[in-house]
Amino acid sequence: MKTQVAIIGAGPSGLLLGQLLHLQGIDTVILEARSPEYVLGRIRAGVLEQGTADLLRLARTGERMDREGHVHEGISLSFGGMCKRIDLKKYSGGKSVLVYGQTEVTRDLMAARQRDGGLSIYEAADVQLHDFLGDRPRVSYTSAGERRELECEYIAGCDGFHGISRLSVPQEDMRIFERIYPFGWMGLMSDTPPVDHELIYASHERGFALCSQRSLTRSRYYVQCPLDEKPAQWPDERFWNELKARLPEDVAARLATGPSIEKSLAPLRSFVAEPMQFGRLFLVGDAAHIVPPTGAKGLNLAASDVQTLYTLLMRRYKEGRSDLPGKYSEICLRRVWKAERFSWWMTTLLHKLSDDPFSQRIQRAELEYYTGSEAGMRTIAENYVGLPFETVD
Ligand SMILES: Cc1cc2nc3c(=O)[nH]c(=O)nc-3n(C[C@H](O)[C@H](O)[C@H](O)COP(=O)(O)OP(=O)(O)OC[C@H]3O[C@@H](n4cnc5c(N)ncnc54)[C@H](O)[C@@H]3O)c2cc1C
Repeated sequence: MKTQVAIIGAGPSGLLLGQLLHLQGIDTVILEARSPEYVLGRIRAGVLEQGTADLLRLARTGERMDREGHVHEGISLSFGGMCKRIDLKKYSGGKSVLVYGQTEVTRDLMAARQRDGGLSIYEAADVQLHDFLGDRPRVSYTSAGERRELECEYIAGCDGFHGISRLSVPQEDMRIFERIYPFGWMGLMSDTPPVDHELIYASHERGFALCSQRSLTRSRYYVQCPLDEKPAQWPDERFWNELKARLPEDVAARLATGPSIEKSLAPLRSFVAEPMQFGRLFLVGDAAHIVPPTGAKGLNLAASDVQTLYTLLMRRYKEGRSDLPGKYSEICLRRVWKAERFSWWMTTLLHKLSDDPFSQRIQRAELEYYTGSEAGMRTIAENYVGLPFETVD
């Protein structure tokens, strides 16, 4: 089989890239290790930057998102028993974010690919990448018990942090930057109305908490906890009590609790692999970088890689600009590192990092400064709604 762009992984980045290229008449085949049901069963991100939402509209998958997603024009940071609202719209020059679950984004992209006739091969086992440093890359895989081969012009490695694409590169040609945080987030999903119409990021001496949401009837809450704790150690009652203890009293009083429908521990990590391109292989999204979820950037950063690669490949095919794909890594990394910085900074600003009283006072002063100054609120707002995508000459 032959295609122009082989895409490894049918997570949000693989599906979005496939859909955008397909709409431009560029042939793609997506190879995904898991089944569609497994991919849809993952519960992850929920906050879309305006640029991500615009890209989903460009991919003609924005209809349900625009109908069912919720525009948020602010977030609150809580500390010292009170909530300080950051007006995202006011301080970012009119931008906002959209709350719409990653599961729904994936569902819409899958449906669009099926509707528009793009080929996705699910349960493709033992995917292997070949000859991507030369002009004629290939991908081999096993499907329905048979070993097959896909010839292509480019390979997009959209297969997440544990995928094969990054591991296929000679490791001596790659530089890894990494920080693993000594705590995680215990997350609980419940069919209860959110405690607030916007997200609340809470810094408390017991640890960080986040009140997030997926819809007007579905909430997603997180509490900072030691990395080695298991969901089984967090029965619902313990979770709700701990969450309430970390919120201002008036917020805790109106928190609607109920049975959990999902509970899981997310470790926190900052990770960047440089460069993001090796010959005709591009690393996209979580395959190249991970951020702690505190800045709501993971999915959005994956979308901005897709925006860059889509633009470069489209112009390569439409305008014959064969020089452009070579710019992928340098363009992406500039934005990646800014999002890494913001996610790391939000994490250190809001989490309990130690029992050291000096650090705690500094953290409190920083929170007061950033939420009490126009410049501070502008800094948070413009990063939270997403920095602009770079244009390509
Ligand atoms: C628990 C959790 C909570 C998160 N919360 C947030 C949040 O609140 N906000 C936010 O912005 N981000 C969040 N993220 C991050 C966000 O979900 C990711 O950044 C996003 O999923 C990246 O998309 P991706 O398509 O690059 O990778 P993935 O979603 O990981 O998709 C990769 C795909 O490749 C497939 N694959 C893997 N290996 C192979 C192989 N060898 N062959 C073929 N296919 C393969 C996988 O099955 C998968 O379908 C969270 C992540 C996790 C894990």
